[in-house]
Amino acid sequence: VRQVVIVGGVGGGASAAARVRRLDEFAHITVFEKGPDVSFSNCALPYTFSDVIDQPDDVILKTPEQFEQQYQIDVQVKTEVIAVDAGSKTVTIKPVDSDVTATVPYDSLILSPGARPIVPTTIEGVEQSNVMTVRNVQDVRLIQTFITEHQVHDVTVVGGGFIGLEMAENLQKAGQKVTIVEAAEHVLGTLDDDFAQMVHKELYDHGVQLILQDGVAAISSNQVRLNSGRTVATQLVIMAIGVTPETKLAVQAGCQLGVTGGIKVDHRYQTSVADIYAVGDAIEVTNRLTRQPTRLALAFPAQMQARHLVDQLYGQTPDCQGVIGSQVLHLFTLNIASTGLTATACEQQQIDYRFATVAPQDRVSVMPNTTPVFIKLIFSYPSGEILGAQAIGQSGVDKQIDIIASLITMHGRVSDLTDLELCYSPWVSTAKNAVNMVGLVAANILNDEFKQVSVTQVRQLVLGGAFIIDAREPQEYANGHINGAHNIPLSQFRQRLTEIPTDRPVYIHCQTGQRSYNMVRALLNRGYANVINIAGSYAELVQYE
Ligand code: FAD
Repeated sequence: VRQVVIVGGVGGGASAAARVRRLDEFAHITVFEKGPDVSFSNCALPYTFSDVIDQPDDVILKTPEQFEQQYQIDVQVKTEVIAVDAGSKTVTIKPVDSDVTATVPYDSLILSPGARPIVPTTIEGVEQSNVMTVRNVQDVRLIQTFITEHQVHDVTVVGGGFIGLEMAENLQKAGQKVTIVEAAEHVLGTLDDDFAQMVHKELYDHGVQLILQDGVAAISSNQVRLNSGRTVATQLVIMAIGVTPETKLAVQAGCQLGVTGGIKVDHRYQTSVADIYAVGDAIEVTNRLTRQPTRLALAFPAQMQARHLVDQLYGQTPDCQGVIGSQVLHLFTLNIASTGLTATACEQQQIDYRFATVAPQDRVSVMPNTTPVFIKLIFSYPSGEILGAQAIGQSGVDKQIDIIASLITMHGRVSDLTDLELCYSPWVSTAKNAVNMVGLVAANILNDEFKQVSVTQVRQLVLGGAFIIDAREPQEYANGHINGAHNIPLSQFRQRLTEIPTDRPVYIHCQTGQRSYNMVRALLNRGYANVINIAGSYAELVQYE
């Protein structure tokens, strides 16, 4: 009978335990979890603050008793594994509320200890009781009690990653006045700057105060002081600046760490110590696109790694090829999704890339309540291999990103996207799906059919006195336009060619990038050599003006 000991009973740990039982009816499986709960949806935790989920306990998917009854898996909560003796193949366990330790033997030891929120000790007052993090159900219970007992009405969320944004939204919906403090130029490092601007607008539109390029220097019971000297009234601080892998036990066991600080594993999730395996947020993984070591704290990779690891323990040979990092979050009215590399990441990695953006309606425009889908596709140049994508919209942009993620996984190229035959009805999409459209624009760029600049360059163009055409209709122009832009609508430009200079570059934009692209093509066909599309939508453009 194989003795399988698992450290950590949530994302990777619970998945590994269940998979072992599915493959081995007789294995003796023990899961040790230092927290009071196992198998809960960490990802649903932020929603316990608004009315989406009633009680923190509602996120618990399975109790230790259910593990025992359904799978004969021994789950011991409030029990920490404090040491591993790889020589004798035993772990030392200690209940969190007692000093009595015990040793437990293993044949295979699976570490899935996760990653803990970073709380920088350099921040003055960070040890105070009003500074909290969100990792498990217990954290949520503590935060809710604190809010009630201390009549909290102002919350500062430090960090604009997906956990910080989800916390900001749900706390704001619960009636809190929320400020997000983010050290970088924009929230969500999984997006490029142009797309992150739409997220900023969404936060502002919903009353969340966003402070960028600043950090928290000091915290007291009723305010935070920022590095800039600015103060923000706050009774509760949520630290969400990222996570650091839990590696203490692995290091004690003699396991090597990788260059990123995560537990080093091979393609079978074997650590450097025999019979000790590791999965989840705690490990170092390989980026499938760059082949560089990286870390990725997401639920799917943790669960799939657990499955692959157990499969190979039982003689199967799963094909583990690394991660691409697909993720999605909901924020007020928007869904925000991304996969693969951003343009910024390509620049950092010195990858020659191009990008295409489109902003079509999510469904045929004659249908009620259509909304735009903003998509950015990043692809390698000149090969056209798809490297990444970002999508933002009120509709389910996860569909578009999932399609692109599938293609990335199969080393798909721009031409695969243009020709992808997808289902269509006006009720759900457009005949040419948004991903086909962005593929078509990308194909034109690959073929050097037209030139484009990013919306991020618009301010420079305006300041430099560039000739910019706004190709929208006069009424749209009257409702708002960028400084100095000449309104020559697509519907009129053929009658107004004399207004378009031939002796200098002409930059063209519109509402979604489609009319401007058409005008660029028409002008090129008419012999205008220096016409350039401003890639991106008017909504993005105004953020940069
Ligand atoms: P965890 O699920 O964190 O489990 C590790 C467990 O190990 C912990 O409970 C810990 O107490 C226990 N442990 C550690 N050391 C020991 C020890 N020595 N002895 C005993 N027990 C120990 N991912 C997504 O893909 N999409 C999302 O929308 C999303 N939202 C999230 C929202 C929040 C608020 C959080 C916190 C995470 C979210 N994630 C999301 C990330 C996802 O939950 C994690 O990637 C996933 O849970 C990782 O699984 P894991 O097993 O590595 O770690």
